[in-house]
Amino acid sequence: MTNTIVKAPAAEVSFIDEVCSIPGGEAIRSCIQCGMCTGSCPTASRWDYTPRQVIAMVRGELRDELLSSNSMWFCASCYTCTVRCPRDIKPTDIMHALEIIAIRDGLSTKRSRTPVMYKCFVDSAKGNGRVYELGMMLKLFLQTNPFAALKMAPVGLSLLLHKRMPLRPSRIKGRGELKAILDKARALGGAK
Ligand code: SF4
Ligand code: SF4
Repeated sequence: MTNTIVKAPAAEVSFIDEVCSIPGGEAIRSCIQCGMCTGSCPTASRWDYTPRQVIAMVRGELRDELLSSNSMWFCASCYTCTVRCPRDIKPTDIMHALEIIAIRDGLSTKRSRTPVMYKCFVDSAKGNGRVYELGMMLKLFLQTNPFAALKMAPVGLSLLLHKRMPLRPSRIKGRGELKAILDKARALGGAK
């Protein structure tokens, strides 16, 4: 087993081999399409393709169709599917690996704010050593839907008044080490 996601055009490496190279994705060929993952998933009703269908699409080489869908972006990492899968497949890990591949290949959907949120989160953590919530959320809303910030304004104000959200970023020691970890994760196949 390798710890690096295979980076190769679909023409050279099959989609299923690409996913099998992901830690947690090795067992995908043994899926029996029982649907336990979909039946257990609290967010599946919002997915273009349900978790069971996602697994089937990987096996069916429907790469671009799947990677440009909104499906994996709604995964809430609850791990219920992973715990219940009768074939020890790890759908949660597969969903997050598909997100990485979608970002890397420029296929991530604009119908979900999650891809932009991930980037804002990592940028904030990289710069400060920890997430600066106010800055991250402002950046996220500016890059996705600025009007949505108005809806969240009362929540933000309440957090500020209760000193649960600082106005200024605080920086930790060891930012260099954290940056090195994030750079290493990227070198192992993480998205930019
Ligand atoms: S629960 Fe496991 S075996 Fe069943 S459809 Fe989902 S991934 Fe396949
Ligand atoms: S980990 Fe993700 S895919 Fe699995 S049940 Fe939870 S939300 Fe659904």
